[in-house]
Amino acid sequence: MAGSFIKVKCSDCENEQIVFEKASTDVNCAVCGTTLATPTGGKAEIPHDILETVEAR
Ligand SMILES: [Zn+2]
Repeated sequence: MAGSFIKVKCSDCENEQIVFEKASTDVNCAVCGTTLATPTGGKAEIPHDILETVEAR
């Protein structure tokens, strides 16, 4: 399975950023640098608001 991309809203600065659902490395907010996604081996842990899923094509 390829996995999907999700749009995440940073809870610190309200930046909206596209993050890979199964990120294998930490994903940081491009604006404030807070961690948006933490790899877990499967789906990344994302302790922020998820706005929508962007289906992979
Ligand atoms: Zn941020």
